[in-house]
Amino acid sequence: MDIFDFSDGREGYYGEFGGVFLPEILHATIEELLVCFRECKADPKFWQEYVSLLQNYSGRPTPVTHLENLSRQLGGAQIYVKRDDLNHTGSHKVNNVMGQGLLCQRLGKGRVIAETGAGQHGFATATMAAKFGYDCKIYMGAVDVARQRPNVFWMENLGAEVIAVTDGQKTLKDAVNACMRDWVTNMADTHYILGTACGPHPFPEMVSWFQSIIGMEAREQMLKQAGRLPDRVYACVGGGSNAMGIFQGFFDDNVELVGCEAGGHGVGSYMHSARLAYDDASVGVAQGYKTYFLQNDQGNMNETHSVAAGLDYIGINPIFSYLWEQGKVRFEAATDVEVKEALKLTMRTEGLIPALESTHAFVTAIKEAPTMGKEEIILINQSGRGDKDIFTIADALDDAKWKSFIDGKADQYRAEKN
Ligand SMILES: *Cc1c(COP(=O)(O)O)cnc(C)c1O
Repeated sequence: MDIFDFSDGREGYYGEFGGVFLPEILHATIEELLVCFRECKADPKFWQEYVSLLQNYSGRPTPVTHLENLSRQLGGAQIYVKRDDLNHTGSHKVNNVMGQGLLCQRLGKGRVIAETGAGQHGFATATMAAKFGYDCKIYMGAVDVARQRPNVFWMENLGAEVIAVTDGQKTLKDAVNACMRDWVTNMADTHYILGTACGPHPFPEMVSWFQSIIGMEAREQMLKQAGRLPDRVYACVGGGSNAMGIFQGFFDDNVELVGCEAGGHGVGSYMHSARLAYDDASVGVAQGYKTYFLQNDQGNMNETHSVAAGLDYIGINPIFSYLWEQGKVRFEAATDVEVKEALKLTMRTEGLIPALESTHAFVTAIKEAPTMGKEEIILINQSGRGDKDIFTIADALDDAKWKSFIDGKADQYRAEKN
């Protein structure tokens, strides 16, 4: 299945979803980006350069691990995990960012900007900018700056300027809007490194292309290690980039693909980010593209929630909206409570600490594995690692010893000041 074959339709559309909804002033810039992306995609040397950069800088190929203890304990399908948590900077985001860094060289631009919510994408972008020698500005909602100090610390020390956005709800969607404004003003020398497979064309296709390295590796590794392809593949879905990445390895196979969204406080709570698994989203146009959004009847965006900041977003990859309507990808949701339980289980049985985002995929897989036969195989994409999220995870697990450690640190700083 080539979802990017636009020969019989409108380029950049997946069914009715996708498109380019931007102010006219940005049309030339988007066109320039599209032309450059088409050249890169058609040039095998570009892909080779991309792969060798990730091999030498980020540890690719990341391994696949067979979870023998967890599989035995659940008594059903054999569980395998694709370890994108082992990337430099701790998640799959580096794949997209390094790819766009190379593309930016071809564009001949020396300045990059990016939006970030929890700070993971900003952290990866600041890392890339340091390596490539680009000027870098990261837009982040003021609320997120206040609650994600560790990532802000790294971005600033890597040489990026972090701008706290004080418009709107002061969170991710406001940071996206601030990026768009910067881009309009500085498009001659600036490339916008969008962090997920959302936004105007060509971003959904371009980010998916860079992330497809996950699925290409995983397909080969499963054949080698398990002797055959998995029956099901699970991935968490925020904007949809890590899921598109791994799913692309299996589109043409008889493999069931399961996207796992953030169920937050659960169905009917309006405190979640499940656009497709729950029935609360509707089709709309915002932030440059058409997809399912969590919005009210007037088209104003709802507040969203997840224990995993990286899944806490109003929209979803337009390709997924289309594949879901076609019945090609199934969507489920995991609640905050289920995520905390699954994280404890994977830590204790396997010594793995998935990011809270990735743990959503584990929840669904752990629920379904016991209903499958022992000869069946499932593959989970571990998009990121949780040890980088120690503040968030310690809060989520309500760890008393961690709190007294933080109190002690605060006392120490106060004493040093006096
Ligand atoms: C940002 C993030 C996500 C969500 O983004 P997608 O584009 O849906 O992949 C998932 N996992 C981790 C570890 C992240 O940092």
